[in-house]
Amino acid sequence: MASLEEVVIKSLAGDKGLYMPERIPVLDRRTIRSLKDQSFHEIADHVAQAFFGEDMEPDALSAIVQDTLSFDTPVVQVDDSIYSLELFHGPTLAFKDVGARFMARMLEYFIRKKGIRREVNVLVATSGDTGSAVANGFLGIPAIRVFVLYPKGKVSPIQECQFTTLGQNISALEVDGTFDDCQALVKTAFADEDLNRRLQLTSANSINVARFLPQAFYYFHAYAQLDRAGKADRLTVCVPSGNFGNITAGLFARRMGLPIRHFIAANNRNDVFLEYLQTGVYTPRPSVATLANAMDVGNPSNFARILDLYGHNHAAIAKDISGYRYTDGQIGDTLREVCHTRHYLLDPHGACGYQALVDRALQPGETGVFLETAHPAKFKETVDRITGVPVEIPSKLQAFMQGEKQSIPLGKDFEGFKRFLLALED
Ligand SMILES: *Cc1c(COP(=O)(O)O)cnc(C)c1O
Repeated sequence: MASLEEVVIKSLAGDKGLYMPERIPVLDRRTIRSLKDQSFHEIADHVAQAFFGEDMEPDALSAIVQDTLSFDTPVVQVDDSIYSLELFHGPTLAFKDVGARFMARMLEYFIRKKGIRREVNVLVATSGDTGSAVANGFLGIPAIRVFVLYPKGKVSPIQECQFTTLGQNISALEVDGTFDDCQALVKTAFADEDLNRRLQLTSANSINVARFLPQAFYYFHAYAQLDRAGKADRLTVCVPSGNFGNITAGLFARRMGLPIRHFIAANNRNDVFLEYLQTGVYTPRPSVATLANAMDVGNPSNFARILDLYGHNHAAIAKDISGYRYTDGQIGDTLREVCHTRHYLLDPHGACGYQALVDRALQPGETGVFLETAHPAKFKETVDRITGVPVEIPSKLQAFMQGEKQSIPLGKDFEGFKRFLLALED
């Protein structure tokens, strides 16, 4: 059994497996019913205290929650029974801001508490959104250095500027290779005993408990908002999924007592999870590129957590979670139609989420919520082309675009990466 600080600082268990919380706290029905009278901060504080309260001082935890949730996650009605949970009002306009900031603050707390002297190095591989959220979440935090590894020429300019222009404790490493090469470099680094003896390394991908669990906060907040509107009785939640961290946090929320009747995992053409639901056989494979590129994952890292949560019972998983998959053509059709007929602008990931709720054909009295995981301006070129109307770029994003790009070129061979990291020692 590992302590929370160990879990947060190390990310991966000694056997390289993923950590799971030992127990899942359950909120009683009265608490759930009272959520509708509470603010987002109060709701999130309840959830955080239930999960982490035994392992850290309650006031320090509350301060971390406050600092993480500097923005709202409103539920917006799109049509009769379908709502969008907008998770894109944070600093980098995507839901990952929540987990990234929370993890950064919690890591800072434990570094202080343990009196760790040497710097902690956070390694993160990104195909776009993770790097920007992690870089911004960790920006300026003392004693932590962040290395964002990203594939050269394969990240959109808007995404790239969000982690290459920051400076301070954030370094962007531009890898001459693919996203899989970046991920392989990070994984090999964690497996390298020599390197880990000499440097304190940790991961900020969604394998880290402190990054994925805080995502449960906004499921509770969505429920509270819908309960206020009298719409929370028969709830289906649809999550556009890639590494399945976000949906796993929702499954945890449900285990904590949140009355969500059903989950949907919406996928693009990378549909190994859907295939698992249909056949019971899990066959990871290389990812294919799509318009919803944050979901281009061929071997979702949190799949193991879902299996564990359900005791490897395929029938139980398939009962609670449905899967849908969409091609780029279908994503475009949905985005265009919802823009023109519902006057709601989706991003390519949210488009999968919305469409899956339509295809699920909710019964009268049922309510569907999809997680709108990113602001459409993050995918401006795609969205403009599909709708024919230029999407306005929020000022937060414009500010990044004015910064100067700084990145360090790196080959995809591990020895070069290791030499680079070891040079930090002196
Ligand atoms: C990361 C991301 C996803 C996928 O989330 P997972 O937790 O990896 O399943 C979906 N949409 C957007 C915009 C993302 O950035």
